[in-house]
Amino acid sequence: MKIMKFGGTSVGKPERMRQIAQLITADKEPVMVVLSALSGTTNALVEISHRLAASDKEGASEKIAILEKHYQNFIHDLLQEATLLAMANEVLNEHFEFLRITQKISLSDALNKDILAQGELMSTKLFSLFLEQSKIDHALLPALDFMSLDQNEEPDLVLIQEKLNGVLANHPNKNIFVTQGYICRNAKGEVDNLKRGGSDYTASLIAAAVKATVCEIWTDIDGMHNNDPRVVDKTVAIEQLSFDEAAELAYFGAKILHPTCIWPAQQENIPVKLLNTMEPKAPGTVIMKEAGTVGVKAVAAKDDIIAVKIKSTRMLLAYGFLRKIFEVFEKYKTSIDMITTSEVAVSVSIDNDMHLNEIITELSNIASVEVEKNQTIVSIVGNEIAKTDAVLNKLFQAINEVPITMVSYGGSPHNISLLIPSEHKTKTLQLINKGLFNL
Ligand code: ADP
Ligand code: ASP
Ligand code: MG
Repeated sequence: MKIMKFGGTSVGKPERMRQIAQLITADKEPVMVVLSALSGTTNALVEISHRLAASDKEGASEKIAILEKHYQNFIHDLLQEATLLAMANEVLNEHFEFLRITQKISLSDALNKDILAQGELMSTKLFSLFLEQSKIDHALLPALDFMSLDQNEEPDLVLIQEKLNGVLANHPNKNIFVTQGYICRNAKGEVDNLKRGGSDYTASLIAAAVKATVCEIWTDIDGMHNNDPRVVDKTVAIEQLSFDEAAELAYFGAKILHPTCIWPAQQENIPVKLLNTMEPKAPGTVIMKEAGTVGVKAVAAKDDIIAVKIKSTRMLLAYGFLRKIFEVFEKYKTSIDMITTSEVAVSVSIDNDMHLNEIITELSNIASVEVEKNQTIVSIVGNEIAKTDAVLNKLFQAINEVPITMVSYGGSPHNISLLIPSEHKTKTLQLINKGLFNL
């Protein structure tokens, strides 16, 4: 079986859904189609939730009405057969009625997650009706029946595999399956999600669970580019990446992939292909065990980073001191991205400020603490990059004028990371494009 995941823009217009139907029937291999919500929907649902949280019921209902109109237009373009159009109408009524009811009850975390789940539920149901109209035999599998999180809010791959195999066994004669990306159930059985962009993660988890031949991520660009195309004018697609390289790029901000979506495919050694729905013949990027070539491949940037600088003239090198520092971050479930040390100080970077005040208070008991907000991690990723000729020289020459908060080199053979004030991000990515990629 192969997995084909289509993102928001790939399902966002009726003509795109028609094109997807062609792509998924192009060969005989059984396929699991994972769909995102139509583009813009999850953002709209987040906004509806925000308005409800702010007791702005009128604002929420206005947003719901606009979204409903969009979906009404969508189904009228997508479906021509009267019975199927009537069924699509019922689907929309059910989901928009749910959204309207949320305005009458108090918003909880669980209800918020239910609201966010509506996009993927609608896109898959509408696509399934379109497949029916096109006489394409398939089964729609509710992701909520098998996509499970454990007590730590992490995907439970063993349970997912067990449940999904059970679900698939109910459809022995089907070749095409359609399911929702992003949504899942948590350990309490409530509707939850895999965080923004999580449909990629769903695809990779399913790929690992069914031991797929390939996990294809279909999006609006022809693969992983060497730099962020939203920020830099001239970027090029990368032919091949190792799992480790792709994981670093995703984690450090390459938006084309969900930050943690590589590990399931990597665990089962399943190649991941990044392909362009708008240009299906383009080779895209293949992510596999082997890196292909040696050297620098790409740069990515992750915003909203906080640098925490911890200084202790007396105790830093006393053994056990670093442990005490890390224990504070562990206690508040705050993971550290970058770390640098000197004789008297240690600096770390974090991307989550939920418990920043508590962390500072506790650290202040053992050291002096300084915090710098609005930072960006710029990660240069490649194969054996640290051994690449003159890479540091070229890098620092290229970004000579940029102030650097932290540098991390040697932690991984695939990565050199810099922490810079976010206001310098655009310029830094552009300078690196010239200096390291000659673009
Ligand atoms: P989808 O809705 O299909 O999941 P996303 O918007 O999540 O698509 O990801 C695709 C987008 O990622 C591209 O349109 C591009 O702007 C952005 N992007 C950021 N960095 C990169 C990169 N290094 N290579 C390719 N695309 C990137
Ligand atoms: N629809 C969700 C989002 O916009 C998940 C995804 O598209 O991957 O974040
Ligand atoms: Mg995405």
